Amino acid sequence: MSNCVIVGINWGDEGKGRMVDLLTDHYGVVVRFQGGGNAGHTVVNEKGSFALHLLPSGIFRDGVANVLGNGVALDPENLWKEIREVRSRGIRIDPSNLKISDRASLLLPWHREMDALEEKRLGGKRYGSTKQGIAPFYADKYQKKTVLAGELREPEELKAHLADLLEWKNLTITRVYGESPFTMEMLEEWHRDFCEPLLPYICDTGAYLRDAQAEKKNILFEAQLGALRDPDFGICPYTTSSNTLAAYAPIGSGLPSARIDEVVGVVKAYSTCVGEGPFVCEMTGPEADRLREAGSEYGAKTGRPRRVGPLDLVATRYGVEMQSATRIALTKLDVLGYMEKIPVCTRYLLRGEQTDRFPFPTDLGKATPVIEYLDGWGCDISRARRWEDLPKAARDYVTFLEDAVGCPVSYVSVGAERDSVIFR
Ligand code: GDP
Ligand code: MG
Repeated sequence: MSNCVIVGINWGDEGKGRMVDLLTDHYGVVVRFQGGGNAGHTVVNEKGSFALHLLPSGIFRDGVANVLGNGVALDPENLWKEIREVRSRGIRIDPSNLKISDRASLLLPWHREMDALEEKRLGGKRYGSTKQGIAPFYADKYQKKTVLAGELREPEELKAHLADLLEWKNLTITRVYGESPFTMEMLEEWHRDFCEPLLPYICDTGAYLRDAQAEKKNILFEAQLGALRDPDFGICPYTTSSNTLAAYAPIGSGLPSARIDEVVGVVKAYSTCVGEGPFVCEMTGPEADRLREAGSEYGAKTGRPRRVGPLDLVATRYGVEMQSATRIALTKLDVLGYMEKIPVCTRYLLRGEQTDRFPFPTDLGKATPVIEYLDGWGCDISRARRWEDLPKAARDYVTFLEDAVGCPVSYVSVGAERDSVIFR
């Protein structure tokens, strides 16, 4: 029996969804333990190409139970729309393969609005939110001003609770932001259209996971975003609002007793970053455009062009440490095939000195990258399925990373499709 957490090592979009879809073959249960519908996890398999937002990426595998843990931002509207959309493409989703924690808190209709209003107020100083309401949701969760999914079971009590929250939230919406208030009718409509359909999926997933553990089922924990977006250890304040680290998986999943056997840290063969914030190794100009096009680096949720740069060993080493990664899954190595010389950021220059330590958040803006060049392989490697199939320069690139961050690369992904991978 083994439990494994799949996490991002960098800024997100490393290819976690792709790795979860691949590795669920060996697991009975997949749990999303943090984050919300602002995720974009792209999965390409024999059933098609899907961009998942809140659904766990194990949803395509028969016999796998998918759990949304208490740590997620449960957005009933987006989740119900997502379920219907994925189902319309022939994927079975019912209460036997999707289970929602009754202890997950609900992202309420005003959270998206609050997100947009605050980003607008910030103007040029905005955080680069995806405006899915995630930050206002977690703020309200921790000040105990939202609703647990299990409360949907008692509509009358729920109505009274929502009325109290409505009165409180309208104070901020009308008096701070000067916008029109939400009404009980709006909440009733939201409840009818998006919450009621989810009722059959809501259960005590903590008990379900404890039973699964007792039955020696393997459990896979799926994270959103990456180590550098962790609110405690990331690039504050340009982080997300829930812990993206493997250490949070036992709590956010609803299985505090979980023993974690493996942490697969997903690293992209180069760097990308969506939204605002310091990005030390950022490339600009035609070189950046070429890499963005080669890697199709546009957000799955927002369509926003991703900022790009070379592999950043300073950030990656830090991410590996924060995640306690036991293995690395390196993705998108195929994308670098066009480069003659491959830039890699090996150190940062900060206050006139070179460092391999990831700086304090407010120092990041003062750091510049130290770039070294490795040999490119100059060919298409997307058909390689064995380590020996890779050109020597590609193997050297992988081992260079491995040595620099002190963690073995166990998977090398050379394409988006499920089987485009090399197991080492
Ligand atoms: P996630 O948020 O970490 O799940 O990553 P995303 O799905 O947002 O971004 C990764 C993108 O790269 C997706 O479009 C994947 O289909 C794609 N992808 C994943 N692995 C590979 C790979 O090895 N090669 C190529 N070319 N594309 C990949
Ligand atoms: Mg993504």
